[in-house]
Amino acid sequence: MLTFTLAGASQRLAPRLGTLIAKGRTPIQTPHYIGNTSRGVIPHITHDNQRKHTAIRSLYMGLEDFIEKLPPRKPPIYDIPYENDISPLKVFASHPPSTLLILSPRRFPPVETPTANTNTTLSICTSVGFRSLPISQYIDATAKLHPDIVISPCDFVPPAAKQNASVKRVEKMSDRTAVWLRDMLAMKKEVREEQGSGGNNGISVFAPILPVEGERQRYYLDQLVEDFKGEVSGLVLYDCGSLGEIPESLEELPRLMLSDPANPRELLQQISLGADMFVLPFVSLATDAGIALGFVFPPPLLGKDGNGSTRVPLGLDTWNEENATDVGSLQEGCQCYACVKHHKAYLHHLLSAKEMLAWVLIQIHNHYVMDQFFAGVRSSIANGTFEEDRQAFERYYEAEMSEKTNQGPRVRGYQFKSKGGGEPKKNPKGYNKLDDMAESLAEAPVPSPSVDAGDLEEHGLGQVSKS
Ligand SMILES: [Zn+2]
Repeated sequence: MLTFTLAGASQRLAPRLGTLIAKGRTPIQTPHYIGNTSRGVIPHITHDNQRKHTAIRSLYMGLEDFIEKLPPRKPPIYDIPYENDISPLKVFASHPPSTLLILSPRRFPPVETPTANTNTTLSICTSVGFRSLPISQYIDATAKLHPDIVISPCDFVPPAAKQNASVKRVEKMSDRTAVWLRDMLAMKKEVREEQGSGGNNGISVFAPILPVEGERQRYYLDQLVEDFKGEVSGLVLYDCGSLGEIPESLEELPRLMLSDPANPRELLQQISLGADMFVLPFVSLATDAGIALGFVFPPPLLGKDGNGSTRVPLGLDTWNEENATDVGSLQEGCQCYACVKHHKAYLHHLLSAKEMLAWVLIQIHNHYVMDQFFAGVRSSIANGTFEEDRQAFERYYEAEMSEKTNQGPRVRGYQFKSKGGGEPKKNPKGYNKLDDMAESLAEAPVPSPSVDAGDLEEHGLGQVSKS
């Protein structure tokens, strides 16, 4: 069972402190972020470093990362039995039992797919191309994989597409989402009955709240209150505007935001409206770009002459030539492993040499910064100074994240929008002759097994299935 307790009475659209507890898992003090994984791991960091150097004890995973062989072959995750209340997915990805695991059909942010969802399927992107995932298959998967929290599938049209979405499309979105939630809750009931009162965790279902407006939204929310209340353990929101639409009787449920705030300022705004948990792609994006985050909350006091006219950047571009001879740490006073052991000049050197260790160290630092940031947010809410501190933060720091100036690690299929077959290669040539060889092999009439799957992926996923 999952329990969520709020400290003090919950006020509408106000920052709140909570504790999320699942039996046998590390409790999560909210507001907090959830570690965003790629194929089961936090990008760049190994499991031991994650445990030693970050406070990440909860993970968000997308099922689409694990089911590339289905159909016709059975993905290996389904060969692991569910034992001792430990999710087979956790065993597969080698995470300790105490990690809180949140499973969703798709990674976050999801890659836009060329085909639309249907009444019974979700369009997904696996490592070998796009395909449809029947909702029933997702529900079966969650029953087998036993994550601590499962996100009920939602027929979400991304914001850009939503503007052009017809009224009918919006109607479909909420109708499908409601039907899928009903199916998901039926599965949860079955699992519970199967287990009897044996006293293990069961599966907690988080219900999506779509960013739709008006009559449709009210109808869906009424359903949520009347038919599903008591069965739903939390809410997933895709837009901070939806925070104002949560019915009063569902106020006590934890709220997971899949709203993708672009920077800390947007993040703080969502916290101020009562959001509890976040999946934050901007952290790894900054790491990939070689940007070491450099903000704290609450911000340092402005100096005597500090009138806020020049704001401090949110991060340091480690690629910058200025760092080549700078033996200071990435962020002054930072106690993370990267800052305690190494200096900017070393990080700059690693990046210039395209050493993987550069991204490892920056990722450790960036997650440490986020750990400290959220700890600061929680104590600021506890002290009743959050709004004041938030305004000070806006005065002290720049609004936007620093611009990416250099090439990060090689990008993969799930990191860019695919337009289908025939799109240009996304990565510049890194291996000259070897790249040419790979290309001529790929063009050869007989497909050769020596072409690296990663290289195929770079040609656009749409093409992979054809080659
Ligand atoms: Zn650091």
